[in-house]
Amino acid sequence: MKGNTDHSESGITNCLVSKAIREKLVRLGVADEFDLLLHLPLRYQDETHLCPINDVPENKTVQVEGIIIHSEIMYRPRRQLVCRVEDDSGILFIRFLNFYGSQVKAYAVGTRVRLLGEIRQGFFGAEMVHPKCRIMRECIPLADALTPVYPTTAGLSSEALRKLIQRTLQALADGGDQQGYLSETLPDTILKQYRLHSFRSSILLLHQPPPDASATLLQQRTHPAWRRIKFDELLAQQLSMRLHYRQRRSGNAPVLLKKNDLIRALLQSLPFELTSGQKKASSEISHDLVAGHPMQRLLQGDVGSGKTVVAALAVLQAIENGYQAALMAPTEILAEQHYQKLSAWLGPVLGSSDIKIAWLAGNQKKKQRDSMLAAIADGSAMLAIGTHALFQDQVEFARLGLAIIDEQHRFGVHQRLALRMKGAKTGLAPHQLMMSATPIPRTLSMSYYADLDVSVIDGLPPGRTPVVTKLVAATRRDEVIARIREACHAGKQAYWVCPLIEESEALQLKTALDTYETLSLTFPDLKIGLVHGRLPPQEKSAVMESFKQGDIQLLVATTVVEVGVDVANASMMVVEHAERMGLSQLHQLRGRVGRGTETSICILLYQKPLSPIAQERLKIIFESTDGFEIARQDLRLRGPGEFLGARQSGVPMLRFADLEQDGDLLDAARNVAEELLCDHPEAAKRHLQRWLGKRSEYLRV
Ligand code: ADP
Ligand code: MG
Repeated sequence: MKGNTDHSESGITNCLVSKAIREKLVRLGVADEFDLLLHLPLRYQDETHLCPINDVPENKTVQVEGIIIHSEIMYRPRRQLVCRVEDDSGILFIRFLNFYGSQVKAYAVGTRVRLLGEIRQGFFGAEMVHPKCRIMRECIPLADALTPVYPTTAGLSSEALRKLIQRTLQALADGGDQQGYLSETLPDTILKQYRLHSFRSSILLLHQPPPDASATLLQQRTHPAWRRIKFDELLAQQLSMRLHYRQRRSGNAPVLLKKNDLIRALLQSLPFELTSGQKKASSEISHDLVAGHPMQRLLQGDVGSGKTVVAALAVLQAIENGYQAALMAPTEILAEQHYQKLSAWLGPVLGSSDIKIAWLAGNQKKKQRDSMLAAIADGSAMLAIGTHALFQDQVEFARLGLAIIDEQHRFGVHQRLALRMKGAKTGLAPHQLMMSATPIPRTLSMSYYADLDVSVIDGLPPGRTPVVTKLVAATRRDEVIARIREACHAGKQAYWVCPLIEESEALQLKTALDTYETLSLTFPDLKIGLVHGRLPPQEKSAVMESFKQGDIQLLVATTVVEVGVDVANASMMVVEHAERMGLSQLHQLRGRVGRGTETSICILLYQKPLSPIAQERLKIIFESTDGFEIARQDLRLRGPGEFLGARQSGVPMLRFADLEQDGDLLDAARNVAEELLCDHPEAAKRHLQRWLGKRSEYLRV
């Protein structure tokens, strides 16, 4: 986590550094002494002993010492300074591609040098390229401990940082720690219970490892000193998220009692029985809605696990109590589909005379939009469904009681806040239900989502047959075409997903149009449709509707079909250039098929050569259909930043802790956070202040 970067109040003590250095430090994110203490080594260098040249492990940074026995500037294959260095065991070449005249002089024959670098087999034999090189005019003792190596910036070397940090530590130790930068934030009992080292000793050890500190543990960041820092960081995250959770939770929300009339009617009209996962999630939500405090719940479940119906039940609970609900989705296709599905489910239950369900989207006709807005404002619309259009200024709800956000990660903090503000008229905060199409790995939901309660729908509705995934090289396109033709003639329907072109939307559109044309020529015997993001909404929904009705057999689509689209009869999918797509995107796309009882096939066409990461992604998606497992792998490949999407803005990112490696610390931090908030609120405050400073204020949603 990044510390407080408000420079006006604090700053590195003037006597320690010049203004020029201070500016460079700011570039490293270091604004005050505490930031400097947390500017922890990237790694450690072992300069405590010398290796004999002939006995050096390859590809490992080592230190050797010897005498220069030959030195010359060579011009082929390019200008470089090449020296030969000899010790008792053997000879080593060192090469400098960029060098100064002074270096040529300094590295004269007969000079003793101490070198730090990696030895590789090069053109001349064993060599070090650009080693760190120290001239040994006299005997300099070897380091007695590991040397920390710091993240640097132009004009501020690791060595300079090391000295500055050492000086700062010294100054703090000499009684200059009025701010308590090194003081302990945690009560003794907690240190003992979780076997944590003190903060002070941990910081000191990481910057000045003693001779007996384990190099392996330090390098792997599993040393108790590292673990303490990571724990503190995780704890600060937990504290800040839980505090905000508590703050919001302490507000008042409408009490939405479970009256059950409408809910029972809906359940009876559904052609299926809820799965046990759905029942459990639904009852957790229902329980929250009764409580009179704003619900802040994340509903998780794999693609196709049936989140929509769980949302519909929550909507009814609001309506039963005379409150309105809003359902927001990130794309028009998805919002439209929710509108259709919920109209079909709720229409009969609500009685379909007036506008009971309102629909809002970006490019809607003014007249229609105005009547929708009016219905939302006077309360005759009980449910409003739409895209981002839902939280614009003109939208005023009469009595918003529940806001549901599908695909929550696509929405930023501010957008969700804006929707919540729509409840203002009631004087109460609306309940909030967020849904995520992509499962979120446990460690991530425990850390970055710790400000929410989480419900998980485990398992899929019965009767689904897993999708068979095939990886096919693009060179075998003909076989794929034959297969699709055969399937469509047999009465099946298929998606053909166009390649993703991230660089340019125009190009993406062109590719979609080209693909559509080519496929129309290839399949003169099939009815083919095209859907893409730029299509006007009416046309988009007309195409989706014909596909749903079975009038279109092959739907050529861009990744707009990625989320939510639900056409049960479609059982084949071809994804072009699958190697360009991310894991969760592939999983989402694949989730569009396998919704019926028919065995579905997803063919991932790929173009060689594959990058190692693309290869790994395709392997994962081929081997697993379990969304949670895929999400875990995705987190491993991409790291949490990428994974969090828009949520990232507003949540403090972790700098030190690694969710995969430090899962046990995360568990501990979670427990300790609760314990501190209950029993040691001052300690909690101190800890937060230290780690987040003013930033903790920013986290609101
Ligand atoms: P997702 O969780 O991906 O949003 P949906 O809510 O779109 O999934 O549901 C996928 C499909 O499964 C829909 O057609 C829905 O009607 C159907 N469905 C939901 N719950 C059940 C169930 N318990 N049994 C059978 N089908 C169900
Ligand atoms: Mg969905």
